[in-house]
Amino acid sequence: MTSSATIGVFALQGDVREHVRMLGELGVGVRTVRRPSELDGCQGLVIPGGESTTMAKLARTFELFDPIRQRIEDGMPVFGTCAGMIMLADRILGGAEGQETFGGLDVTVRRNAFGRQVDSFEKELVVAGIDDPVHAVFIRAPWVEEVGAGVEVLAEAADHPVAVRQGHLLATSFHPEVEGDGRLHRLFLDLVHG
Ligand code: GLN
Repeated sequence: MTSSATIGVFALQGDVREHVRMLGELGVGVRTVRRPSELDGCQGLVIPGGESTTMAKLARTFELFDPIRQRIEDGMPVFGTCAGMIMLADRILGGAEGQETFGGLDVTVRRNAFGRQVDSFEKELVVAGIDDPVHAVFIRAPWVEEVGAGVEVLAEAADHPVAVRQGHLLATSFHPEVEGDGRLHRLFLDLVHG
């Protein structure tokens, strides 16, 4: 698949390289985003897995917080994986004191939801809109505890949503970028191409 779109990858923290590689393989233009000017000209944004508390702080420090929030409000498609899902959530449980998110996704997300015993695990996951199961890698992952009316649940694990879509926003608790399976990214590019 080729496309003329340029997708930004939030690059202040997290597994940026894996997303850049995946998007490159899918034939879109990719740009790492560390400053507000780098958001200009992006038709979509990926927020990687990593550590959401650090992401929020760095986004404030580098003055990316408000520009990203504004672009989300303006309708830019965004795909968040794991910590990226947390960054998109309107409400979080188990957050650090005062932890901020970009928001936009009408969900309540619980950080580190799967507990210590199953800190990290892998699972074949049925995802709505994707033909065969996806091999999903969960690493200290969040799950979705509550969804608003406009949110579509695409996949569940442990009886909780782990992949959701609301309009131009897509989020997964797992890391499609680390398993070399481009199908979730393709679903995201469908949002970018309208
Ligand atoms: N537990 C991390 C957080 O709260 C997310 C983990 C991940 O992105 N793999 O930000």
